Amino acid sequence: MLNSKLQTLGTPNFQLMLPDYHIHTPLCNHATGDPEEYRGAAGKMGIPQICFTDHAPNPDGYDPAHRMTLGDFPSYREMIEALRGGRSPEVLMGVEVDYYEGCERFMAKWLPAQDFDFVIGSVHFIEGWGFDNPEERHIWDSSDITATWRKYFKLMLRFVASGLFDAVGHLDLPKKFGHRPREKDLKEMVRPVLDLIAENGMGVELNTSGLRKPVKEIYPSPLILSMALERNIPICFGSDAHSPEDVGKSFASALELARDAGYTEYFRIRQRQKELTPLPGV
Ligand code: ZN
Ligand code: FE
Ligand code: FE
Ligand code: ZN
Repeated sequence: MLNSKLQTLGTPNFQLMLPDYHIHTPLCNHATGDPEEYRGAAGKMGIPQICFTDHAPNPDGYDPAHRMTLGDFPSYREMIEALRGGRSPEVLMGVEVDYYEGCERFMAKWLPAQDFDFVIGSVHFIEGWGFDNPEERHIWDSSDITATWRKYFKLMLRFVASGLFDAVGHLDLPKKFGHRPREKDLKEMVRPVLDLIAENGMGVELNTSGLRKPVKEIYPSPLILSMALERNIPICFGSDAHSPEDVGKSFASALELARDAGYTEYFRIRQRQKELTPLPGV
């Protein structure tokens, strides 16, 4: 339950002071609103820092419908650079790298050459199935839920092992439509992934977009977050906004989730260097 202090966080002028590190742009073909509008929305909420993390381009033809092309990338960079300057919030440049088999070859060269502040690593496909895509949701009906989750974490483990990114995006994304494995199975599957995240010094984002999806729950779940804290995995916050009104959405709930799990700090990042910061009100 929200306590009375947190309930006041929903008011627009409250200085929540948590950066939003997961924001898209129209270059991915499924987001609306100019980057300037996202920045403006963040400014109104008192958000001190935002990071654009649009879906990364790739030369391998993976899921071209949902991302910028390599040719678009210079305009992505220019768009973001144009928003930088004295005004608050500070604007960072990042990407959400979507895992596909073989992406390591390209990403290992391309990512370090781009001067990113922050790189999110996400898995959206299992053997060609966009399992979180509403248009492909029906495939869940004929899928073994536990086996699907196992495959998902296997891919995630491989991606984490690559060491290519700074934090995992929406770590338990397969729950999006409400399909969940038994808790015992989930723990067993996620344990090696969290172990490797910790070993590689990576973080996990609290992604509030889950609250806007059928599951109505932040990614990751309280259980997974408590397992992350046991390993001292640092956290950050992301709205996964695909429109300006979603910037900073439900961050009061994410803050409450972090505190309830026992977290007292989160990370800020620039030039891919994390810095731990006390959570507001702690
Ligand atoms: Zn997207
Ligand atoms: Fe994603
Ligand atoms: Fe995203
Ligand atoms: Zn996302």
